[in-house]
Amino acid sequence: MDFSLTDDEAALQQLMRDFASKEIRPHAARYWEEERCPTEVLRRMGELGLLGLFVPEEWGGTGVSTVAFVAAMEQLGHADQSIAAAWQAHLTIGSLPLLRLGTDAQKERWLRPLAEGRALGAFGLTEPGAGSDAAGIRTRAEPVDGGWLLNGQKAFISNAGTDMSFGVTVLARTGDDADGRGRFGSFVIERDTPGYTWGPKMRGIGWRALDTRELFFDDVFVPDENVLGDPYGGLALFLGTLDVGRISIAALSTSLAQAVFDLALDYAKTREQFGQPISKFQAIQFKLADLATEIEACRWLTYRAAALRDAGEPFRKEAAIAKLHASRTAMWAATEAVQIHGGYGYMMESEVSRFFCDAKVLSIGEGTNEIQHLVIARELGC
Ligand SMILES: Cc1cc2nc3c(=O)[nH]c(=O)nc-3n(C[C@H](O)[C@H](O)[C@H](O)COP(=O)(O)OP(=O)(O)OC[C@H]3O[C@@H](n4cnc5c(N)ncnc54)[C@H](O)[C@@H]3O)c2cc1C
Repeated sequence: MDFSLTDDEAALQQLMRDFASKEIRPHAARYWEEERCPTEVLRRMGELGLLGLFVPEEWGGTGVSTVAFVAAMEQLGHADQSIAAAWQAHLTIGSLPLLRLGTDAQKERWLRPLAEGRALGAFGLTEPGAGSDAAGIRTRAEPVDGGWLLNGQKAFISNAGTDMSFGVTVLARTGDDADGRGRFGSFVIERDTPGYTWGPKMRGIGWRALDTRELFFDDVFVPDENVLGDPYGGLALFLGTLDVGRISIAALSTSLAQAVFDLALDYAKTREQFGQPISKFQAIQFKLADLATEIEACRWLTYRAAALRDAGEPFRKEAAIAKLHASRTAMWAATEAVQIHGGYGYMMESEVSRFFCDAKVLSIGEGTNEIQHLVIARELGC
């Protein structure tokens, strides 16, 4: 296996490294304090062509490989996890349903502005009563003359409530099969649609600069031209886009683990106790050696899943394994890195403490780790 980057992919990685280190990292603490999604940064990323990575040039994107995306994510997530979270949600669940299901007219209208970085994409699946059990959603779309009437509520939806948000694509129940199983459709709701409102930004343990909200749909009329694909299909196709999301969260997790490792290594080499740097104590050395080992494993698992996707091979199991291992490692690495920083690491002034807070959600978003176990077990034939 050779995951080495092409010249173009290495150039993308370098672009992201430069942008993240010069224009994001120095302000990361402020974004965290302000608890606001810095859309000015995302717009700038759009100008650099970084918001259309999975979208072909034909629709305003750059159509890079999954491996290249992972390489770029490693750079962005190392600087700021919230912005990386918003970025990946835009590229995956925000854009891919439009790319996969949209007609040419729909792509022109909604996908192109997303890919060109003029708008931010969002997808609403989760509801207060349905998270892991996606088929349990209650938001309903009833057919009416010329379109659909949508009623319901979504929870924890990222990127839908910013000044850059175009609106949201939502999954709604459109009926039931004879055996009682639900049918589902995807609907594009533009931000100024009557009856569509959203709640205040929710406050998480981490990802403070990610815009996450509840969304409300009260007799929202959705014209037929806003239906993506088959209004009675939907669920399986949407869940298919989550496989890429898992690679994305695996890459985000790897970037977090690498970031806290780098902070811990630097600190260990400079912090002196008992007359020498703490990196000279074997207990600290073993922690660092363990971290380096696990991070390398995360990286290879993630690139492998990405390379399989690029080769058109099945990658569901590998993506779930990468997500499971990398998100666990990120949480553990953040805990160890805070430990190496001692009391300073516990204080919110430290960079490592922010990563520590960001780490928890990685085992929850894009399918909890318990669901990853189920996916892996199913792929194993259990
Ligand atoms: C910051 C953030 C951003 C998000 N952004 C979005 C977004 O943009 N769009 C969107 O649609 N959603 C989004 N989500 C929702 C996210 O996908 C869900 O939180 C996640 O799928 C879990 O659903 P839940 O929170 O309802 O937990 P639940 O499904 O209620 O799970 C609760 C616990 O039960 C466990 N569990 C559930 N079922 C099983 C089972 N069968 N076997 C074993 N254990 C089980 C879970 O693993 C978990 O530990 C976001 C969430 C967060 C926190």
